[in-house]
Amino acid sequence: MSVLIFIDAADGHVKKSSFEALTYGAQLAKQLGTSAEGVLLGTVGDDIAALGKYGVTKIHHVANDALNRFDAQVYTKAIADVATAAGATVIVLSHNVTGKAVSPRLSARLKAGVITGAVGLPDTSSSFVVKKAVFSGKAFANVAINTAVKIVSLSPNSFQTAEVGGTAEVVAANVTVDAPKVKVTATNKVTGQVPLSEAELVVSGGRGLKGPENWGMVEELASLLGAATACSRPVADAHWRPHHEHVGQTGGAIAPNLYIAIGISGAIQHLAGVNRSKVIVVINKDPEAPFFKAADYGIVGDAFDVVPKLIAEVKKMKG
Ligand code: FAD
Repeated sequence: MSVLIFIDAADGHVKKSSFEALTYGAQLAKQLGTSAEGVLLGTVGDDIAALGKYGVTKIHHVANDALNRFDAQVYTKAIADVATAAGATVIVLSHNVTGKAVSPRLSARLKAGVITGAVGLPDTSSSFVVKKAVFSGKAFANVAINTAVKIVSLSPNSFQTAEVGGTAEVVAANVTVDAPKVKVTATNKVTGQVPLSEAELVVSGGRGLKGPENWGMVEELASLLGAATACSRPVADAHWRPHHEHVGQTGGAIAPNLYIAIGISGAIQHLAGVNRSKVIVVINKDPEAPFFKAADYGIVGDAFDVVPKLIAEVKKMKG
């Protein structure tokens, strides 16, 4: 019996969301009185053994270059094989793009119950009950699973990373890697930007910004803060911004430490994707804009006046 944590990596580096999953898995293992182990697919430039500082004692490494590119079916089989060989009873993944694709496939393959988007550690006092957000973050549900193997995907930014020290033993996992099912013919890579799903700070713009030509100030503020950029749905629909930046009920759901909304009205469908942000700052010229009700800080003013002033202040602070 052990807890196995999937360590997600991209471009040769372990993703930040994996540190949260590792911490979560290690604390869960402690709670269950068992060990926490990790599984890493593909080759990375990072020091794998150092991930032991998050509380995992062993990392199963499938160092096969065919795994450097994500393929849901190939990943699912590799993780399932490692989990079976390691006798894992709980598998933890991050509820990011990779985890969302792998968790249900893993569930079917291992005949394991799955809880997606967990926001806290399970209550294991009598059964295995996990709290998760439902109805676009409007409510929480406590969901129980009682299968022999259990899968939990953890909502990014919902669990504090903690380092406990130590190094992990890295073992080469002996699993057969299938040939990728998907043939990639071209990649269109966005570089130099913080990925939205991993971002702790997000600067977002809405239709109040009038047009794509006005996004320079949003990008400048984001770049100064080390933040990702996001947008409301009409903005992506109008092709002012790429679709991967659209947040809300029908877009990405994020939970950054800071969400700055500029010229966004705060429709319920938008709030559904951002209402788990720790601090929300709203800049809107209409004092009646619904977003102010969800805001921690509100600035009533014209974005074209307020944002340049904010940029100037941040520049001053940075010297
Ligand atoms: P608007 O509603 O047009 O608001 C613009 C805001 O900018 C206004 O509050 C205005 O006061 C302010 N403003 C104008 N000029 C300035 C200025 N110079 N300075 C400062 N403020 C200014 N929307 C999403 O975002 N995400 C979703 O996932 C999503 N899913 C949907 C799903 C369904 C089924 C439906 C029906 C709708 C969905 N929507 C979604 C659309 C949603 O209902 C709203 O229409 C949308 O969020 C509005 O976008 P907005 O706030 O950018 O634009």
